[in-house]
Amino acid sequence: MPNAHCPLNKNMLTEYSEYLIHRQWMTHALEFAQAAGNAGEVPVGAVVIDSFGNLIAGGENRKERDKDPTAHAEIIAIRSAAKILQSWRLNECTLYVTLEPCPMCAGAIVQARLGLLVYGVDDPKTGSIRTVANIPDSAASNHRLRVIAGVQESNSRQQLQGWFANRRSSKI
Ligand code: ZN
Repeated sequence: MPNAHCPLNKNMLTEYSEYLIHRQWMTHALEFAQAAGNAGEVPVGAVVIDSFGNLIAGGENRKERDKDPTAHAEIIAIRSAAKILQSWRLNECTLYVTLEPCPMCAGAIVQARLGLLVYGVDDPKTGSIRTVANIPDSAASNHRLRVIAGVQESNSRQQLQGWFANRRSSKI
């Protein structure tokens, strides 16, 4: 059974060029996250890339602004991608998100049959890909999800930590 957390069976040069592509798309996800942070939301951003390598959807955390507990970056990006592709099945697509998805988003990622999930930093509080729980590999999942973790990890972590540090200091 393939290990879901490793890119497999490629020569190192291909792996490196794929890594650069993952970094590049994660930069876009970080920009969405920054926009959320600037608007007073916890900075989390996501983008969806189609099988041709085109960015087809993006999302940023909008929970506070929309007063919507489901308005996480991943949900917004998945909904938008499904609408554009006119299909709920996103098995040809890759989702990039700056923070490890929560249980709700991990569930939506499985429901959408996403081809590949790439995320930035582990979430020790609600991370449901591997840190607190592993929804994609659980008995509740009917989809074997490929996952690459730790792309732009330090940038993703710094963005979140900086945002929380700012918020704490502005409350004093
Ligand atoms: Zn979520």
